[in-house]
Amino acid sequence: MDNRCEQQELIKIIGVLDSLKSDALTIEDANRLLFAPKEVKHLESEGCSKLIIDLVWECCELENIQSLIPDKLESNIIKLKERAIELLKSYNGNDNNMEYPIPTHLKHLLKVDMSKSDSNYLSGSIVCECGCDKFSIQHNENREYDPQISFDEQDGLKVIVNCKECEKEYVLFDESKHGFNGFVNEDCRTASNDSLKELSCKTCGSRFFFVNVGIEAEDKNQFVEECVNEFPERFTADDYVDSFDWITITLCCANCNESVDWIDLELS
Ligand SMILES: [Zn+2]
Ligand SMILES: [Zn+2]
Repeated sequence: MDNRCEQQELIKIIGVLDSLKSDALTIEDANRLLFAPKEVKHLESEGCSKLIIDLVWECCELENIQSLIPDKLESNIIKLKERAIELLKSYNGNDNNMEYPIPTHLKHLLKVDMSKSDSNYLSGSIVCECGCDKFSIQHNENREYDPQISFDEQDGLKVIVNCKECEKEYVLFDESKHGFNGFVNEDCRTASNDSLKELSCKTCGSRFFFVNVGIEAEDKNQFVEECVNEFPERFTADDYVDSFDWITITLCCANCNESVDWIDLELS
């Protein structure tokens, strides 16, 4: 579940709690709409934050409070609403204050793991715009270096992922375009899609994976000095996000949970 969906969930919770407090909804209505074990299951299956799931669980308890200690009902509604508002605020702070070096082609694909990321290093999972996080993978990881041709004519590593749910295709990485060597030095050639092979789990044979990406960013000041100042017609300062120095791709089989450190590639 991405940050936007989690924020929307919190706004719904706050709305229902507010409506309870002003008697616009009854507890039965609230349970029917949102505060139900069914909703908790749904949130868990979507990979929602544990903090929100716990909050919905406690909102489900309001029914018991109403029947056992009715004079505590209002203060409990207020407390839960305050917690939901604090959680909602934490999203704004995180999104606005930190400038994560997300490469342009991953902007709408990478769900940043804020606990492991900062302005120099990025870690996150790949999530399709439909919300699904399982993908099949086409790649040329075993491509061979051809000594007959020059380095900038070699096929670069290319990884394409297809969403299991909606089958949308994304280029996760193309060494000829992404990262310092491809983006700045124009090393490598884009491999043709015909040369790619499908990956399957070595343990169980499944073709679907959860995909995690780690990116070591290029230092922005250094990029400005070496690239923008040297080639002002080619680069702007914001391009440093596409000129990253290292990429790792970790996979977890969606069927048997076997985890593999798959790609670990220096790009500068
Ligand atoms: Zn999808
Ligand atoms: Zn497997």
